[in-house]
Amino acid sequence: MTAHILFSAHASRWDQYEAPLKEALDNAGLDYVLATEMPPDEVDYIVYAPNSDVQDFTPFTRLKAVLNLWAGVEDVVGNATLKAPLARMVDEEGLTQGMVEWVTGHVLRHHLGMDAHIVNPDHKWEPVAPPLAPERPVTILGMGALGRACARALRGLGFPVTGWSRSEKRVANVRCVHGDEGLAQALRGAQIVVLLLPATPETENILNASSLSLLAPGAVVINPGRGPLIDDDALWQALDSGQVGHATLDVFRVEPLPKDHGFWSHPKITISPHIASETRPASASRVIAENIRRGEAGLPFLHLVDRDAGY
Ligand code: NAP
Repeated sequence: MTAHILFSAHASRWDQYEAPLKEALDNAGLDYVLATEMPPDEVDYIVYAPNSDVQDFTPFTRLKAVLNLWAGVEDVVGNATLKAPLARMVDEEGLTQGMVEWVTGHVLRHHLGMDAHIVNPDHKWEPVAPPLAPERPVTILGMGALGRACARALRGLGFPVTGWSRSEKRVANVRCVHGDEGLAQALRGAQIVVLLLPATPETENILNASSLSLLAPGAVVINPGRGPLIDDDALWQALDSGQVGHATLDVFRVEPLPKDHGFWSHPKITISPHIASETRPASASRVIAENIRRGEAGLPFLHLVDRDAGY
């Protein structure tokens, strides 16, 4: 049977994805038609980004699955017109690797106090050695594909790592806690907290005045997850009071972050433009092709989204 695959992402993405997708589909031994336009009632699979033109899935009457190119699904998970299974992107070689590098880099920046030496206009000679990693507790909120990989990498560098998730987890040498009670345990005394949760109604404002007060004074907040995870006003106040020493933010409630937003000029905030980890076409295409192969073989899809949980 020929699999009819519609590529439906931002128009600029087709140039990046056409060749690697075809290569991956060929290597998976699939018989397929891949195009950016196709009669909806002929489409079996949509390779999808939530900012595509397709927002109404009703005309796609024989859809077998929507395969999201992004890890985050908050802009599609609640779409009531989508009845077919929805898979999100989990790609160890690309997305996960990129996030591990970004998180590790920003944790080490703050751990080592690199800023003092990178920008030192007064040529101060102040030899203050940072503590070693085992003395710097790091907490990761979200122990999914990305959080677990970051936890392992940071643990490998010697940091005592605590990870928080909804369900119970076991990761070697990482203190894993879960549920409402686990949140306070995870945050209390943490010197660096990394947010790798999805945006859902349950995770909105998970870092707020009350939860921020549990952190060690002067703690660093690193958010490559999603903007709504943080109560922005509470963060601002915590930065002003010194309860939070610095925030490195990659994601925001409104993106691009408006040019006149106060975060841009706050001396204790570092902003990166949602680049913590991008989906990489070559490796992501292999993940997509494997899921289509599974669909055609009648096997369960990988990385399915729990529509009720919202991620
Ligand atoms: P994932 O595998 O679905 O993991 C999500 C984790 O969050 C899981 O451990 C889950 O717990 C936990 N969680 C969800 N709701 C929770 C709740 N109410 N209480 C406690 N824990 C909760 O997702 P992922 O692939 O690691 O990606 C995480 C997020 O990173 C994405 O949703 C996306 O927003 C963000 N992201 C950002 C970028 C970027 O460039 N900035 C790139 C990729 C992804 P369970 O394990 O118990 O289910």
